[in-house]
Amino acid sequence: MTCREAERLVMPYINGELTDAELAEFLKHIDTCEDCREELEIYFTVDVGIRQLDEGTGTYNIKGALETALEISRQRIHTLYLLQTARYAVNTLCFWAVLVVLILQLRIWGQLGFLGL
Ligand SMILES: [Zn+2]
Repeated sequence: MTCREAERLVMPYINGELTDAELAEFLKHIDTCEDCREELEIYFTVDVGIRQLDEGTGTYNIKGALETALEISRQRIHTLYLLQTARYAVNTLCFWAVLVVLILQLRIWGQLGFLGL
């Protein structure tokens, strides 16, 4: 992902509008690019500040809030990755299970003489 693309996703990220694929790419970029991270911090700070005015809450650890938000996002991506891996594993397992059953069945048929062996 380029900085240009990442910058475009800053506001959607804060608003929670990114797709999972976008979110993964965005987090990867933010972790490695100081400029875009700063950009995100600025927008996030402004966003949190406005919300504070609306809600009238007192002092608030904005930097900590961004860290928390990023951590939640990372966990979401991590969980999705685990689910995908699990699904792949189950699919692979099912494939082999079916294949083994088929081979055993063929052997049984072979032993019974159904295959003309
Ligand atoms: Zn960047």
